[in-house]
Amino acid sequence: MNQNKFNVFGIDKQIIGALDVLGYTMPTEVQKQVVPLMLEGKDVLVKSQTGSGKTASFGIPICDLVEWEERAPQALILTPTRELATQIRDEIFNIGRYKRIKVVSVFGKSSFQMQEKQLKQRTHVVVATPGRLFDHIERKTIDLSKIKYVIIDEADEMFEMGFIEQIERILNYLPKNHVTALFSATMPEAVKHLSKKYMHNPISIEIAPTEKSKKRILQEFAMVDDDRKLDHFKGILIVERPKSSIVFCNTKVMVEEVTKQMKLLGIHCEMLHGGMEQRDRTRVIQDFKRGYFNFLVATDVAARGIDVADIQLVVNYDIPEKPETYVHRIGRTARFENSGKALSLVNSHDRENFEEIYEAQDGQIEEISLPTKKQVENYREAFNMSLDTKPTLRKEKGLAFNEDIMKIHINAGKKQKMRAGDIVGALCNIDGMTAEDIGVIELLDISTFVEILNGKGQKVLKALQTMPVKGRLRKVNRSNETKYEQDLRS
Ligand code: AMP
Repeated sequence: MNQNKFNVFGIDKQIIGALDVLGYTMPTEVQKQVVPLMLEGKDVLVKSQTGSGKTASFGIPICDLVEWEERAPQALILTPTRELATQIRDEIFNIGRYKRIKVVSVFGKSSFQMQEKQLKQRTHVVVATPGRLFDHIERKTIDLSKIKYVIIDEADEMFEMGFIEQIERILNYLPKNHVTALFSATMPEAVKHLSKKYMHNPISIEIAPTEKSKKRILQEFAMVDDDRKLDHFKGILIVERPKSSIVFCNTKVMVEEVTKQMKLLGIHCEMLHGGMEQRDRTRVIQDFKRGYFNFLVATDVAARGIDVADIQLVVNYDIPEKPETYVHRIGRTARFENSGKALSLVNSHDRENFEEIYEAQDGQIEEISLPTKKQVENYREAFNMSLDTKPTLRKEKGLAFNEDIMKIHINAGKKQKMRAGDIVGALCNIDGMTAEDIGVIELLDISTFVEILNGKGQKVLKALQTMPVKGRLRKVNRSNETKYEQDLRS
């Protein structure tokens, strides 16, 4: 008997199967509340922090509700940054993997043509940043006529980034009868206004952080000298020796400087800021998630919403201007059930901003004293030794599917007039194969990627060495393409 507690929602067994593989057996609070309402077709307005399982709370109902046969997109998810778009796309792809849900992400600084091509194929879910989506709308390269579900994610951040007007314009292009779910960590007036104007009797849900979850983040601050901040910071790293950390700075220049200084200390770290090329940003995030390096120096925009397990320490090297930003930053640690620490370095320039943050946190941030020179020296050897430990790599979340799913590559694509139907036809001719065993099919110009489910990959690979696909023998092999290469391709 399946013990998965998501069963109570009455969702498709293919989705339960995927949740089993992902290790999601117990719904989180936000999921308990949002999933049944969205399944019933209700509009929801959700005030919730990231790290609460919010993505799956809309990802699960969407995957359950979309009709596989429909070719045009049925669900649209709007999110502020490209990194979040990628993360959400991956999560929905995993949840919908056994139902063969096709998810396309659409964001700027990435090939428009490639997105256009993907959107021409069967697409169930589109995850987009507003700017690029609007370009697709204007150039008529996206069909929104079948959209039934709309998710506005991180609405407060979209407002901060000046996207609200664009979102309104996008909403005006959508069919009238759709279900809308809006998620926001805070509810500024502009967000409330948006919900009033575009949602139908939304049910408000507030997921307050529980006492337990609040306590999982130990919050500290230290007063630092204006001109010795870097030294103090390095001293703290030496004494604390965190295994993993995100260091937040307010500017790109500061990110570069802090990264340089951490590297001089011998720490393997990388940086992330909005001025970097998209492919570098993607690589840095993927490598950080996998654990190739465990220290990241970043600005807010680039690191927004990034979900990495086990971040031990968040450092506010610069104090953010707004209390909300502080909340988002410290939310990078203590994700899901873990615990962690957030440390803020406050100099004389930051004092005013910090006071506001301190008050907003109800005095939960404790002052600590900086390590003395002697302490730093005492810990230096232990610190240097800690640098020699080899990083342990984390498994990519979707990797657990691999025992069951094999991706194969066929050296023919659209230029050879190949269609998904030809592939399905050929595969179903193989003994013991049914349409249920075929996962996502990705048709490119001169090649095709197909996922074979249920552990039948080897069988298919063998059969296709001697069986024609669309009238001809094709070169067929197992695809070793990594997630990162796939991202670069799209
Ligand atoms: P999110 O708030 O969507 O960024 O999710 C935070 C983290 O919790 C992600 O790493 C998810 O994979 C994980 N997660 C979400 N829902 C569950 C669940 N029901 N059980 C276990 N992990 C979950």
